[in-house]
Amino acid sequence: RCGFIAIVGRPNVGKSTLLNHILGQKLSITSRKPQTTRHQVLGIKTEGNCQAIYVDTPGLHRRNEKAINRYMNRTANSALKDVDLVLFVVDRDQWTDEDDIVLQRIQQVDCPVILVINKVDRLADKKALLPLIGQLGEKHDFAEIVPVSALRGHNRDDLEALIERY
Ligand code: GDP
Ligand code: MG
Repeated sequence: RCGFIAIVGRPNVGKSTLLNHILGQKLSITSRKPQTTRHQVLGIKTEGNCQAIYVDTPGLHRRNEKAINRYMNRTANSALKDVDLVLFVVDRDQWTDEDDIVLQRIQQVDCPVILVINKVDRLADKKALLPLIGQLGEKHDFAEIVPVSALRGHNRDDLEALIERY
């Protein structure tokens, strides 16, 4: 089995941190080899007969608004079209306009989307997590919603187990 997994999200939410941990913290594995014109391969993890190819999606991280609009209008050639699973990473702290832009793109994909609420180690009140999950869960029909700490490790194994299932 081989799967393309896109890690999407606005800058600074912890995508690279998460990926480095999934790949075993060996930065040497993470290469920025251009794979196709649409995808940038960030890393490949092989486990048993399962190979996960992690890709970055060009355009989603651009701050330039005109570029984003132009990109979003190219729906026919969407960068997320050929992926099997999307990990949408957000920060537990704040939902921004940039998150909305990523969300708009995600709403056009057919594959399952796992919402990864990162940096929960910095949540002052753990009780805030349930309402947050409820609130974010209304934004899209996510396949799963997983609170994690990419940095400290909280729930990281659970997330990897989920990824393998999809
Ligand atoms: P990216 O731009 O989405 O790839 O984000 P990075 O992985 O570069 O992370 C941005 C910043 O957030 C860095 O300073 C990370 O150390 C920090 N960060 C990432 N994950 C966590 C986390 O789970 N908890 C905390 N407290 N900080 C995190
Ligand atoms: Mg990064």
